Amino acid sequence: MTLRNGREFLAIPGPTTVPDEVLAAMHRPAIEIYGGRLEAITHSLLDDLRRVFRTEGRTYIYAANGHGAWEAALTNVLSAGDTVLVLESGRFAIGWGEMAAMLDIRVERLPGSWRRAVDPAAVEARLREDTAGSIKAVLVVQVDTASGCVNDVQAIRQAMDAVGHEALLMVDAIASLATMPFEMDGWGVDLALTGSQKGLMTPPGLSFVAAGPRAVAAHETAGLRTRYWDWTLREGEAHYMKYCGTPPEHLLFGQRRALDMLFDEGLTAAFERHRILAEAVRRAVAVWAGGGALAFNIEEPAQRANSVTTILTGDHAVRPLLDYCEKTCGVVLGVGIGELADQAFRIAHMGHVNAPMILGTLGVVETGLAAVGIPHTRGGVQAAIEWMAEAVPAEG
Ligand SMILES: *Cc1c(COP(=O)(O)O)cnc(C)c1O
Repeated sequence: MTLRNGREFLAIPGPTTVPDEVLAAMHRPAIEIYGGRLEAITHSLLDDLRRVFRTEGRTYIYAANGHGAWEAALTNVLSAGDTVLVLESGRFAIGWGEMAAMLDIRVERLPGSWRRAVDPAAVEARLREDTAGSIKAVLVVQVDTASGCVNDVQAIRQAMDAVGHEALLMVDAIASLATMPFEMDGWGVDLALTGSQKGLMTPPGLSFVAAGPRAVAAHETAGLRTRYWDWTLREGEAHYMKYCGTPPEHLLFGQRRALDMLFDEGLTAAFERHRILAEAVRRAVAVWAGGGALAFNIEEPAQRANSVTTILTGDHAVRPLLDYCEKTCGVVLGVGIGELADQAFRIAHMGHVNAPMILGTLGVVETGLAAVGIPHTRGGVQAAIEWMAEAVPAEG
């Protein structure tokens, strides 16, 4: 017996649900690549990405997933033999560091925990020891999609400033941009990057890098520059140079529509929607956790991200729950990854999500917990409902 026929809910932290409007915007013939129409879309995207990153800096569009943006970021500002400090708070900054290591960058990991955000005081202490200034960049994620933590980027910048360290601050905002505040210039971030397929509600395949003045200055002498990622070449006059080849037209059409939707809603309203929906998920998880089997991966409530929640399943196998939710009920949850493989599941609340999608997902998880026999306190969905009604009162 299955209850899954009907619309499937994709509740994984990327790719996320693509709005029908975005899919429709992509459903059109290819257009020629030397004319003004495509050029206008490119320029509007480059400008509007500045609005999303909140920067006056330069923006670049790559036909690549987030890993491509990682490589673009590293190769444009660093040289072989440079040292970077990777701030651990889960899987993703570590992965960025692994990519750096293969480029012959020296990678030092500031040890952290999968259960906590980066400690700015530890960053400050490590940089204080680096009196020779050998660390050229600090790499951190705003939200770690594996652990579900949110790092305080502004506090990390303040820690760097407190020791007057010259390193560039490079931030992966792939799982956070458009879901929560990010102030590239306001916080003193030198380089930021994101992908199309999470908060930006577009299919995977595009990624974006924003560079502030210090990153642009570092680019002048960077030794790792390559033909494909190079910012200088992408500043070239001819339109195709913006992409180092054929523009990924259909993804650009889709991303254009998605940004229009985001600006129609308003960035602040989108952040607030994410906050309220994320809190609904947390209210439900907090109730379920009363049964003793489930727990939030991130211990400190203030460090839990508004885009994804990671839930530990303790001694209980997680696969039967995931299978029940997907195969019987049509809700696809995120699996635990890295250190948390087979020990956790993740509920994404990122991008094109609304109240029925979140309540539907929570309802299915609670159904699944009961069906597969994972001990939990009942009433998680009820707590989510009460929170939403309180957070968003009726108008008038
Ligand atoms: C998804 C994600 C990535 C990787 O992006 P891909 O498009 O899969 O290459 C990197 N960092 C974070 C924080 C992510 O959430």
